[in-house]
Amino acid sequence: MNQVFGPVPSRRLGFSLGIDLVPFKTCTLDCVYCQLGRTTHKTLQRQEYIPMGGILREVEKILNKGKRVSYITFSGSGEPTLHSGIGKIIPRIKRISSIPVAVLTNGTLLDQRQVQEDLWAADLVIPSLDAVDEKTFQRINRPHSSLNTKMIIQGLDDFAGKFPGKIWLEVMLVRGLNDSKEHIQKMADIIGRLPVEKVQLNTPHRPPAEDFARAVSSKDLRRQGRIFGGNCEIIPDLAPAREKILPDEEAKNIAEAILSLVTRRPVSLDDISLALGRPTNEILKYLEFWRSGGRIKSRVYQGKNYYQKKD
Ligand code: SF4
Repeated sequence: MNQVFGPVPSRRLGFSLGIDLVPFKTCTLDCVYCQLGRTTHKTLQRQEYIPMGGILREVEKILNKGKRVSYITFSGSGEPTLHSGIGKIIPRIKRISSIPVAVLTNGTLLDQRQVQEDLWAADLVIPSLDAVDEKTFQRINRPHSSLNTKMIIQGLDDFAGKFPGKIWLEVMLVRGLNDSKEHIQKMADIIGRLPVEKVQLNTPHRPPAEDFARAVSSKDLRRQGRIFGGNCEIIPDLAPAREKILPDEEAKNIAEAILSLVTRRPVSLDDISLALGRPTNEILKYLEFWRSGGRIKSRVYQGKNYYQKKD
């Protein structure tokens, strides 16, 4: 599978060209809401999981096609800061492109000075923090046994105080797991002291790793957002839209492009249609082709149909 994917529409980053630095699914956590499914390789080991040269060549190739890209984003099949070369890849990308670079991280390694320095050249870092006490942390994030909330919060605070770029902190609220009044207030007190530009409240919009990871209602999300204060915003589900971002000559590869999108995360018909700039009735034909071939399956989550890879 290619390590560079998209550009795909992103709720926060416009058209995002994704870079996947780790094999599926390598992470320090095993979040119950993870849209990628359960973590199969839970580790704190930093190493060059994917060779860097190939990634840079892929990025250059896609950028040369002149596609519209708002952000080059490190995200994908797990935790990107586990790749020991991320501190070299970001500056190299900055040398070949003026497009801002974002890193989506779970923030669990930010207490390490080397990881902090590795992210220095990024324009935007979006760490996540879903729990501020051990019980809730274990319940929602199912971390590697060496992690704890104290070191993660300290690492975040230390990094945010020094990082020259922007930091938007994401909080994923899961019904019955971390959304009690008491826990929200504790989180708001701690996060309120962190020097971050924005707090972004989110809730699972796509099929999660565990069926019990349920979304909170938008009414509750708005109410909880007020507790976090003025720099807090709610992340909406991606609004369907129609914009063509692939040139016609790539239409012949549409079936492969669909499979690639579906393999990365659960996607709706509208997501695929938007990403590939093709009408939904055409996309449906290809989805049926892959579904009947046993490569993908569909799953209903919160009344909406999603397509994802078959295990
Ligand atoms: S949501 Fe992010 S941090 Fe949590 S398990 Fe999935 S990839 Fe890892």
